Amino acid sequence: MEKMPYAEPFKIKTIENIKQTTKEERIKKIEEAGLNLFNIAAEDVYVDLLTDSGTGAMSDNQWAAIMQGDESYAGSKSFFLMKNTINELTGFKFVLPTHQGRAAENVLFSALIKEGNIVPGNSHFDTTKGHIEFRKAFAVDCTIDEAGDPEIDHPFKGNINLEKLEKTIEEAGAENVPCVIHTITCNSGGGQPVSMENIKAVSAICKKYNVPLIFDSARFAENAYFIKIREEGYADKTIKEIVKEMFSYGDGMTMSAKKDAIVNIGGFIAINDEKLYEACSTFNIMFEGYLTYGGMSGRDMAALAIGLKESTVYEYLHSRIEQVAYLGRRLEEEGIPVLKPFGGHAIFLDAKKFLPHIPQSQYPAQVLGIELYKEAGVRGVEIGTVLADRDPITRENRYPKLELLRLAIPRRVYTNNHMEMVVWGCKKVMENRDNLRGLEITYEAPIMRHFTAKFKSL
Ligand SMILES: *Cc1c(COP(=O)(O)O)cnc(C)c1O
Repeated sequence: MEKMPYAEPFKIKTIENIKQTTKEERIKKIEEAGLNLFNIAAEDVYVDLLTDSGTGAMSDNQWAAIMQGDESYAGSKSFFLMKNTINELTGFKFVLPTHQGRAAENVLFSALIKEGNIVPGNSHFDTTKGHIEFRKAFAVDCTIDEAGDPEIDHPFKGNINLEKLEKTIEEAGAENVPCVIHTITCNSGGGQPVSMENIKAVSAICKKYNVPLIFDSARFAENAYFIKIREEGYADKTIKEIVKEMFSYGDGMTMSAKKDAIVNIGGFIAINDEKLYEACSTFNIMFEGYLTYGGMSGRDMAALAIGLKESTVYEYLHSRIEQVAYLGRRLEEEGIPVLKPFGGHAIFLDAKKFLPHIPQSQYPAQVLGIELYKEAGVRGVEIGTVLADRDPITRENRYPKLELLRLAIPRRVYTNNHMEMVVWGCKKVMENRDNLRGLEITYEAPIMRHFTAKFKSL
């Protein structure tokens, strides 16, 4: 039977105008910004692929929920709407709202992690790692080796290597491992999913050593979609059934609702252990707010509840992940080097292959980001040597294996014509690539330099 083309399972009711600038204007803007895309005003960007975090478009039902938000300090109706939705979707009993994902980490880890602890996981996200290291504990990356090779086409590059995990727990001693963090999908690994088989096996190891399994769940719905389409035995299950099964193997989750709950701000913790919930509650009240709002307004919690329901519908996920893949395929067709397989939320340009004449010490992925902005007004983000920063002791640049420009696609925001604009911009950069030069840093902050660094062309 002939396959039908896909189209978005929604139509557009409200629009936000964006303006295209001229190349001359953009060259001026990026010079004024010290060649750092973080310093560009959003209104001077045509297609903004800096991040998919908090940049999604809410639905009419979410906006309706905003009007119905209950702003009561204690016992808000909107809190219970959110809590019941989370209970129903994940099976986790206790829910604490937080203002975003890193706040959920801060609260949970305050209760869970002690100095000297070892926290194994799959390429911990930077804020997760930050909150572990801030407590003088250690994040140990147990991702499968295939994840580090851009050439290997593995369906679940976010998986944890079970031997590495068990060895890490054995060496640390289970009493020094407060939890294992399974990130679904694995953001730092390029939006790569984790298989149900891997979740089950990790869960069995955690049970054997009596270590809680916590999901870092920002893109849990996208992960469930990949399980449905790639893993044997799941094709006929609904996304909600898969989500329920994934979470059934764990003890709790932290959530950045700015991703798969399709809201602009928000997050939460959901856990089963009552004692841990009580310990977290104290920190939640101190850091975030009272237990039934924790850093969110009632209307935000109401919109979050609706967003969770909408993001766990197959048709939505299909159009979302197909749009990401559309951009990836089109770039490939035009001979632009991209990482494979395509991630759930972003496409990554391989800057080492794109600009082979620019050494890593001259920040080729940053060059690529600047040029793509100049050509087409498209903003991506460097995931390479600038981001990897300096070694804290030697102060030398750390050179990561992969030098990437990430193009993260906001949910329900852009059309495929915008994706074509991105493709066009990449082609223009490609045509001109032999004339491009590397960069040197003229200013950098002592840590997290990528946000504020300034550059000069060599
Ligand atoms: C975004 C993200 C976080 C942090 O969430 P914020 O809402 O940005 O604080 C944590 N883990 C993963 C995997 C993420 O993608």
